[in-house]
Amino acid sequence: MKASGAASLFGLRPRRLFASTAIRRVRPSDPGWPSKEAWKRLNDAVDGNLIPVEFPINACLSSSLSTDCKAFFANVKNPYYIGDNPGITQTLGWVDAWETKPSVYAVAARNADDIAAAVNFARENNLRLVIKGGGHSYQGTSNAPDSLLIWTRHMHDVTIQNDFVARGCKSTFAPQRAVTVGSGTIWLQAYDAVTTKVGAYVQGGGCTTVGVAGLIQSGGFGSFSKHYGMAAAGLLEAEVVTADGKVRIANACTNSDLFWALKGGGGGTFGVVSKLTLRVRDLPELAGGASFTVKASSDDAYRRLIRHYVGFYREALFNDHWGEQAHFSPDNKLEIRMVYLGLDTEESRKVWQPFLNWLAQSSTAYTIEAEPEIGSMPFRHWWDVDWSKERHRDVFKADSRSSASPINVWWNGDAGQVGWVVWGFESLWMPASLLQDDSQEKLANALFSASRFSKVELHFNKGLAGAPSEAIEAAKGTAINPSVCAAFALAIVAAGQGPAYPGIPNHEPDAEKGRKAADAVHRCMNELRTVASNSGAYVSESNFFESGFEQSYWDTNHARLAQIKKKYDPDGLFFVHNGVGSEQWTPDGFTRL
Ligand SMILES: Cc1cc2nc3c(=O)[nH]c(=O)nc-3n(C[C@H](O)[C@H](O)[C@H](O)COP(=O)(O)OP(=O)(O)OC[C@H]3O[C@@H](n4cnc5c(N)ncnc54)[C@H](O)[C@@H]3O)c2cc1C
Repeated sequence: MKASGAASLFGLRPRRLFASTAIRRVRPSDPGWPSKEAWKRLNDAVDGNLIPVEFPINACLSSSLSTDCKAFFANVKNPYYIGDNPGITQTLGWVDAWETKPSVYAVAARNADDIAAAVNFARENNLRLVIKGGGHSYQGTSNAPDSLLIWTRHMHDVTIQNDFVARGCKSTFAPQRAVTVGSGTIWLQAYDAVTTKVGAYVQGGGCTTVGVAGLIQSGGFGSFSKHYGMAAAGLLEAEVVTADGKVRIANACTNSDLFWALKGGGGGTFGVVSKLTLRVRDLPELAGGASFTVKASSDDAYRRLIRHYVGFYREALFNDHWGEQAHFSPDNKLEIRMVYLGLDTEESRKVWQPFLNWLAQSSTAYTIEAEPEIGSMPFRHWWDVDWSKERHRDVFKADSRSSASPINVWWNGDAGQVGWVVWGFESLWMPASLLQDDSQEKLANALFSASRFSKVELHFNKGLAGAPSEAIEAAKGTAINPSVCAAFALAIVAAGQGPAYPGIPNHEPDAEKGRKAADAVHRCMNELRTVASNSGAYVSESNFFESGFEQSYWDTNHARLAQIKKKYDPDGLFFVHNGVGSEQWTPDGFTRL
């Protein structure tokens, strides 16, 4: 009784608070769908860059054994093939949540004017609009059937400036080194220009094929964020087309509210970003990695291993040198996949020696399955494809298409997620208070209990506790959940399978297995929630079914984001699943409630 009473009261609230006129977007089958002539006018306005969107999976409709279908399932393991194709997305779907669907038309935008034409056309014709950059949304927020797509893939110019001053900021900020990128740029293109070619640093994401615009708008963390902070905090200026079709500049001095919302308020929500200018920093001489796997011989030994690692992490690794991950698995394995900056090989090995000695002293309890690889390299070559090739540094997979740019590469470690179908995915920021002496036991126990259900990944570079105060202060100036500043890591638990699509024989997602895995992911994360309740999740890497997403993603920042959304997009032209303002729409974004 009580529950149902509360629910009905709750059901009334949104309508009262957000009294709105009914809006229903049109589909191709509706009489209000734009005429051929209207589409032609849009095509003329965007210099012929309006394209009908093909759906490559259609090659499998006649037979999954056809040559074209086989070619599709081979190609879909290449993120550049996916990215070059407006009809599909890097994640192909999520069991019981969504599957990738093509838009009807796409504007393959070349500049802000093309974007403005598309925005005006969508608004005037009441179309469902969707925006795609790198196409890496796990939550399917860059695809929608029956929609018009703004596709920024071709907008990837990268320009470095030594004395950038954001517009209107001349009297407030000194000129600084910066890089301006088109909003379709992916991170490897930015790293190639800034680090490989110039020997400087821009804070971006870990995965090389993620889009700059999507990552910045969700906050964004890269391998070295424990030192440089969030990618969004490095945003100096954005050029944005808002729902009224205006091309605006957003920075600390002009449209500063919109600027703040773009720094972590979620992609596809406040406007279409056409250009971004990011801070460029000096590059340390060295970076490196530490990687090995240990298997414990029993549950008890594994408990001790986790407990010891937690203490060791606090002592030796909880600082701005060390980022990336440690994994805790049901098969009692601890996998170390960490990176560092600013240490030479000898220094980094010295850091790990006490831990390796401890393992060696208990050699009956612990087997080193993958021998420790700990070593440094010149940071300038971290993303340098030629340098890696010459030294047989086997870290990248390459785009083998004949037309491919030589820098079309992706990390071996990300290959498993190309064309992925998600079964379950949850994240949780882990407060640094858990590393205090009297809490380490509690944390270790929770990690052990969680690891009984599924593999737990701690991403240390996605929590900013331990980072320099400048990085933490800069993060406080973004819209992301402030919990990130007090977290030593983001815990991620996820499961999925390789390329699959519903209705394609022999390539169906394994829904039954997927549901079981999603349940295991949830139970696993619940064990961590016993020690880190309400600390929030990272909008871009979280559950499609995130409960209380407003609080989870943005916490105290949500109210301000909702106001900014109302100001720049009062009619909700920009809708994404679990985005700011999305609660006013049906799940497909077609009907305002
Ligand atoms: C394999 C993989 C690895 C990842 N690794 C990391 C990581 O290391 N660190 C991290 O922080 N995150 C990571 N992520 C998450 C990633 O940052 C987000 O999914 C991000 O939003 C993807 O951006 P995108 O442009 O590639 O994707 P898209 O799907 O194209 O866009 C994501 C969202 O942003 C919107 N958007 C895109 N372009 C624009 C634009 N120009 N203007 C307005 N809205 C736009 C889209 O509409 C969509 O809602 C990873 C994701 C994957 C799949």
